Amino acid sequence: MEKSDIRQMAARLKNFKLNEPARIMEVCGTHTTEFFKTGVKKLFPENLRLISGPGCPVCVTPNAYIDRIIEIGKVYRPIFATFGDMINIPASRSSLKKEKAEGLDVEIVYSPLVALDIAEKNPDREVVFLSVGFETTVPTEALTILEAKERNLKNFSLSPGNKLTPPAVKALLNSGETRIDGFILPGHVSAIIGVRGWRFIAEEYGMPCVVAGFEDRDLVAATLLMAQMIKNKKADILNAYTRVVKENGNERAQEVMDRVFCTGDAEWRGIGVIPESACEIREEFGEFDAFRKFPVTPPEPIEPKGCRCGEVLTGLISPTECGLFAKVCTPEHPVGPCMVSTEGSCAAHYKYGR
Ligand code: SF4
Repeated sequence: MEKSDIRQMAARLKNFKLNEPARIMEVCGTHTTEFFKTGVKKLFPENLRLISGPGCPVCVTPNAYIDRIIEIGKVYRPIFATFGDMINIPASRSSLKKEKAEGLDVEIVYSPLVALDIAEKNPDREVVFLSVGFETTVPTEALTILEAKERNLKNFSLSPGNKLTPPAVKALLNSGETRIDGFILPGHVSAIIGVRGWRFIAEEYGMPCVVAGFEDRDLVAATLLMAQMIKNKKADILNAYTRVVKENGNERAQEVMDRVFCTGDAEWRGIGVIPESACEIREEFGEFDAFRKFPVTPPEPIEPKGCRCGEVLTGLISPTECGLFAKVCTPEHPVGPCMVSTEGSCAAHYKYGR
């Protein structure tokens, strides 16, 4: 797409007239930040509002997950391997960062496959990879387990915290608590599950949605399509990211996921338990499930006082409506997970929206 085409589309978006106010939800944490960073948020027509959804994996990870990891650390003293954001999440009484400072072995990695190498180099230690993410990362985690089996690694396991996004969207729609007029759907998740993975939104709930990529041109095109569908009261799903997303998604990745994981119920911060939204490790690969390998009973989880992450994640409030935002809660001293992750809505509003 030429620069002049993008400019033209941006002007059409800015001048678009909706008949009545509308609220669209971006389900994805990367979209949360990219709408700010690219400046596309500023092009929104006056009565079109963007709200955040539960699309940041770190943000929807409940306290209980980190509490359990810390407890495993205290009892079994493994090496933990994790993506960087996870160590800053405040758990009920501590955080992995604090525990690391007190001697817990926590290594930051950029891929679960690196965790396998750590296990291979440390045959006398147990290595646990903190597996938290959506459909985008689950295939890699499934491949990691297959690779661990292939290499016959007995000291590697993965703590399953992966979640599936369509059940969360369904739960939001079923709750009826948040007013949503359409969804901007995540391009990377859609690359795996395909457009078909989201068709239920239009077909069962009569709501428009657009699959979007992450560049300025993708965001402008998707928002314009969305505004047009809302205005014309059209319930459909459109794909504005055809260079990456196909109708059936990546079927090879789906097969690998299905081979290693099965679905179960998962707790989502702010939403509660969502049926069929967890990726649980199949019995056949149970030896790689850290939660089966290292049983613990962590103390009851405690939610941070005053934190309204649950309402932020369900689009009920904007981060700035939380009384702690930018006063007590900042990226340097986060109270809740939405201020931790670079994809978190509170962090994005703090960095770009003020
Ligand atoms: S500003 Fe901080 S305390 Fe408030 S909802 Fe966001 S993360 Fe939670």
